[in-house]
Amino acid sequence: MIPIHENLKERVAVITGGSGVLCSEMARELARQGMKIAILNLNAEKGQKVVESIKQSGGEAISISTNVLNKQSLINAREEILKQFGRVDLLINGAGGNHPDAITAPEESVQEIEGKTFFDLDEKGFSDVFSLNFTGTFLACQVFGQALLKAEAPTIINISSMSGYTPLTKIPAYSAAKASINNFTEWLAVHFAQEGLRVNAIAPGFFVTTQNKDLLVEANGEYTSRSKKILAATPMKKFGEPQHLLGALLFLADESYSSFVTGTTIPVDGGFNAYSGV
Ligand code: NAD
Repeated sequence: MIPIHENLKERVAVITGGSGVLCSEMARELARQGMKIAILNLNAEKGQKVVESIKQSGGEAISISTNVLNKQSLINAREEILKQFGRVDLLINGAGGNHPDAITAPEESVQEIEGKTFFDLDEKGFSDVFSLNFTGTFLACQVFGQALLKAEAPTIINISSMSGYTPLTKIPAYSAAKASINNFTEWLAVHFAQEGLRVNAIAPGFFVTTQNKDLLVEANGEYTSRSKKILAATPMKKFGEPQHLLGALLFLADESYSSFVTGTTIPVDGGFNAYSGV
């Protein structure tokens, strides 16, 4: 059982994409730590389910239907949170994902390719995926930044990916956006360092979740050849489970552990990022 972090009690965490597979696990843990949770999600119903599970365990949470790509929608969410909870201490930028319009069929270009090539990628599909994974984080930082600066030990945690270090095949828009997240995390950390706002990121390795299930698991439940390549390149030889992210999350969120840590992206990946393949 993870110990309780007294510093986090009564503080307010805003989690975009907070009803997703990875961030709902973070929401439940932060609620268990005594934080008040605001789930900001496109789909309020999904957010409400996470809120109910938090309340059933004795925690406090609200769900607000929010589009991270719409600044006014984020401003409305901020106003509602300040009305209900009065403050913001932690922002987790978890809204993200991929779309078939921004994914190539082959991993590498060869003659006689079948399926969607690089040249077939749809411009809108590409820019939508880039925006969701980058601009959505930028806008949320802008909208919640001033409220965060009023907190005693404010922090932002962005969610990157293995594709933020070295691009993964097939997903150029997502990879470019996550590389931008690593870069922006550093930029923002430097920008706000003297005002006490720490900005870091977590880069999850490979977790079988709703958004990547089709790339990783065949209809018959077997691992795809892509999954087999991932596992071969992961020294721990397994996929991550959402709870594997919680240690890094609490380390970054609690300033008694990480008050001098800003501008970092921490891989939680079973060694994938460290392994050269040889
Ligand atoms: P998920 O699809 O379960 O959750 C993403 C959430 O974001 C969903 O609840 C979705 O409704 C919400 N969302 C989408 N568009 C939105 C918008 N415009 N405004 C507000 N909310 C929106 O995904 P997940 O697998 O839990 O991933 C969470 C984060 O972790 C993402 O940033 C993802 O890129 C990243 N990540 C995931 C993996 C993995 O293996 N699953 C690996 C590395 C990084």
